[in-house]
Amino acid sequence: MKTGTVPAEMIAAVWRGGSEVEIETVPVPENGEGELLVQVEACGLCPTDIKKIDLGLAEPAAILGHEMVGVVVAAGQGVEEFFGKRVAVYHHIPCLKCKLCELGRFSQCAGYKKTGTTAGFIPAGGGWAEYVKVSSWIVSGGGVVEMPERLPGKVAILMEPLNTCLKCKSALPDSKGTVVILGQGPVGLMLTALMRRDGWEVFAVEPLPERQEISVRYGAKAVFHPGKDLNTNLQEIAPPLGPDAVIAATESEEAINAALRALRPGGTLILFAHTHIGQELKIDAGQIGMAEKQIIGSYSSSVELNGLTKEILVDQRFPWDEIVTHVFPLNEINRALALARRPEGDSLKVAVTPDPAAVKI
Ligand SMILES: [Zn+2]
Ligand SMILES: [Zn+2]
Repeated sequence: MKTGTVPAEMIAAVWRGGSEVEIETVPVPENGEGELLVQVEACGLCPTDIKKIDLGLAEPAAILGHEMVGVVVAAGQGVEEFFGKRVAVYHHIPCLKCKLCELGRFSQCAGYKKTGTTAGFIPAGGGWAEYVKVSSWIVSGGGVVEMPERLPGKVAILMEPLNTCLKCKSALPDSKGTVVILGQGPVGLMLTALMRRDGWEVFAVEPLPERQEISVRYGAKAVFHPGKDLNTNLQEIAPPLGPDAVIAATESEEAINAALRALRPGGTLILFAHTHIGQELKIDAGQIGMAEKQIIGSYSSSVELNGLTKEILVDQRFPWDEIVTHVFPLNEINRALALARRPEGDSLKVAVTPDPAAVKI
């Protein structure tokens, strides 16, 4: 066991039901054998966290937040080599023993669904706090990734979302063609940059003018407004057959259906993010049964992509430092949540930091 100076109490954003979180003083979690304690440098606000708050999908009380970077200030027996390292942490790691893991469906593994990072209460991420404990199976399963000092914190916190984007991309055939990406929020833009760099021709659909402009800089050939001309605009892509793939990083049923109609016969539509169990989506069955278009899903990250994710995250040719536009002090997290719910102007991903003076942003 190696331990630095760790206080007994800390500030954390605790969700106790309702649409806001409370700034409270709570005990710093204690780490045991095989476990790490990380002093949080910054943590992103993920749409899935906001959904948990807004739809009551978590069990209160909970300390959410899972897109985090920080420094290991206490390392339990057997994992002392992590002490003092600056790391980004995955909050889910699969068991690699069950049938679903064998099939490569890591994010469906029961062990994967168990959250492995906590700042107290039922483990729920814990990044919206000053300190977070990392469970032993996350450490031993490769979920703690060293981050170079030079990498800004606002880039390091993109590790998990970037992994989910790479996983989504890997669900498509290697034969690069034309893809339509619905939604150019943080993950939509990351997908645009990744797909373009990989040789795909990218078209995007996005209502906000600021995001349309960034999308073109990230490599989209054209960006369409999801307004009345969307059908016509999508139908004119990649004539005569239509685009090879569609990635839905939005929950707009209208946009998803317009893109499904435009998709070439036998093409693939990926429902990526923005879905939850019980959510209904009305689609034209003939597009599947007769035009042989496929709808598949991609959810969360893949442990097999952890290495590649880090490589691409630190690759300075990618514009990742533009994805996080706002970093709020942790005690102003309700302002951060409000902005993440209703993006304005050029706002993209929003993050919080317990120590605004120290954060390397
Ligand atoms: Zn996330
Ligand atoms: Zn498993």
